[in-house]
Amino acid sequence: MSAQVVTRFAPSPTGFLHIGGARTALFNWLYARGRGGKFLLRIEDTDRARSTPEATAAILQGLAWLGLDHDGDVVSQFEGAARHAEVAHQLLAQGKAYKCFATQDEIAAFREQARAEGRSTLYRSPWRDADPATHPDAPHAIRIKAPLTGETVIRDQVQGDVTIRNDQLDDMILLRSDGTPVYMLAVVVDDHDMGVTHVIRGDDHLNNAARQMMIYQAMGWDVPVWAHIPLIHGPDGKKLSKRHGALGAGEYQKMGYPAAGMRNYLARLGWSHGDDEYFTDAQARAWFDLDGIGKSPARFDTRKLENLCGQHIAAADDAALLQELQEFLVATGLPPLSDEKSTLLGTAMYCLKERAKTFPELIEKAHFVLADRPLEPDAKAAKNLDSVSRGILTELTPQLQNASWTRDGLEAVTSAFAEAREIKFGKMAGPLRAALAGRAVTPSVFDMMLVLGREETLARLMDAARYEAAAQDG
Ligand code: GLU
Repeated sequence: MSAQVVTRFAPSPTGFLHIGGARTALFNWLYARGRGGKFLLRIEDTDRARSTPEATAAILQGLAWLGLDHDGDVVSQFEGAARHAEVAHQLLAQGKAYKCFATQDEIAAFREQARAEGRSTLYRSPWRDADPATHPDAPHAIRIKAPLTGETVIRDQVQGDVTIRNDQLDDMILLRSDGTPVYMLAVVVDDHDMGVTHVIRGDDHLNNAARQMMIYQAMGWDVPVWAHIPLIHGPDGKKLSKRHGALGAGEYQKMGYPAAGMRNYLARLGWSHGDDEYFTDAQARAWFDLDGIGKSPARFDTRKLENLCGQHIAAADDAALLQELQEFLVATGLPPLSDEKSTLLGTAMYCLKERAKTFPELIEKAHFVLADRPLEPDAKAAKNLDSVSRGILTELTPQLQNASWTRDGLEAVTSAFAEAREIKFGKMAGPLRAALAGRAVTPSVFDMMLVLGREETLARLMDAARYEAAAQDG
């Protein structure tokens, strides 16, 4: 039986959850969730000057919006400092690390001389092989003894084997002279202690992997499976900038993209499963594998994102969509729906969700539900309320009074009316849209009538028949 898969997302809380981080989290989440594994969350808050509680909150909020739930408690890396130091001391006791008493000035002088002599500026501490009897009673760092010869090979699931000559590695500091552990040590100790089996992260961490490997090897710990994924680029192939979409996950929520569409799009950003573009969460979990991650940077494409979001809105369960719409209103600071509007919107959802790519678009289509009488038609709709159109509405209203309030019943009455007046149904649609929604672009007039019901429909038609459209009559 193979061991349980354990992945993690390990953001530094120095800013919001940006789109690259969200994708990293998603890949780790999909990999674990598709294999009955665990997905852990560690906040890498060792950089006290740059880490803020607000950033941690924004990251947690972004993950919650995307539905990327983690197992167990959120781990604070900073809180593990004593354990990280313990490992450094263990390596020291085993002779795999040493105390280095070199001062900043001595190191700088070493580098300067190396530069002047055209040698590698990689620092070589004179304390590596010093007899402890010669150690002064002075502040010191603890450095790992890096291998001097041979090669380190990182078996990366995306990049393939990456080989680094060991003479390129320096005796990295594990514990600073003030006793604080370095970040590189903290990552390895935490990943080991948390039982992480697979590390999926941005390829900006590939260089770190070689240095982290030294610690794994010195401790005799299993190295996790590494998958370093190419970063995301903008549509022009350049590094992703704010202009391109390097925004926080929260910004995408506020723009009204549904989380399922965002997940689908982020999954496709650098990973593929044949030609599949649209897929469900269940499919993503079943299909996601490290083999499908591409080696070249993915390009952010807003049109693709919107297209997928439209498909997810159309396919969503009505009640779930209504719920997410309410959350969107809260996230954007818009007023919440009254119970009455919320119920009506739930009834209308079936005719709103086709062809809406975002929640603002859905809300615009739902205007006929959200607006209250008397409706104020927008400029385009007002054009459809000239005197001829108002005449049509005036005559149609009593006929609808007695119609059976079903799609067939409503269609029968309106087509009989159109036939009797020798007008095309299209001629009636504009005035009806204007009357029922105050808009020129709306769901089908029959859907609106069915959702609004007889009483409200007739009241809106009569309002419109009386509409003061003097300017349009001209
Ligand atoms: N804290 C690092 C970052 O936010 C990630 C480190 C890792 O995944 O090993 O980029």
